[in-house]
Amino acid sequence: MGFEYVIFDLDETLYPRKAGLMREIGRRIERWVQESLRLPPEEAAALRRAYLRRYGTTLAGLLAEGKVDADAYLAYVHDVPVERWLRPNPALARMLDGIPLRKVVFTNATAEHAWRVLQALGVADRFEDVIGIREVGLRSKPDLESYRWVLRRLGVPGTACILVDDRPMNLRPAKQLGMTTVLVDGKPEEGVDFVVKDVLEVGPLVARLLEEQEGR
Ligand SMILES: [Mg+2]
Repeated sequence: MGFEYVIFDLDETLYPRKAGLMREIGRRIERWVQESLRLPPEEAAALRRAYLRRYGTTLAGLLAEGKVDADAYLAYVHDVPVERWLRPNPALARMLDGIPLRKVVFTNATAEHAWRVLQALGVADRFEDVIGIREVGLRSKPDLESYRWVLRRLGVPGTACILVDDRPMNLRPAKQLGMTTVLVDGKPEEGVDFVVKDVLEVGPLVARLLEEQEGR
């Protein structure tokens, strides 16, 4: 089966890290950990780093240890006016328009947050679906099970998908399921098929992959 979907991560993939939105969300995550677990700032920060290393996300760590009301957490950490950090990006819209495959977003954030971000970037209508953390049963990348949920929802095998993400950790399970993996703004490593400096380079890369596929 040929390529059918390009699956984009949201935060710091469709907009650059320097936009600062995730820094703000990170501050809210830290405040949540401090307040809900009644920890001083340094201990909360250390616990969060440990969760990120071990589970991939703070929420996955809190859930694994039975320390969180997921709905309250997700509402709190995403309660940010995203328009303050993001502007419409016509170049991104053009790049997406140039990809002759179906496009979806797969994010560890909520689908509501994702749609707000896509609106702010001016590209919401380029995506046919957003798969957020609730849509994969509150599991999150890099939990292999979350990728299986995505493939079931899309109704295709991994080989039909190209996954674009800014974290190598999130690409490895995708690779395991047969997806082609693209890392945005990072270094080549295990599980990463291609590296691009900027998400705008994904368009030309996909065009090349489709050409190679035709030629096979
Ligand atoms: Mg990301």
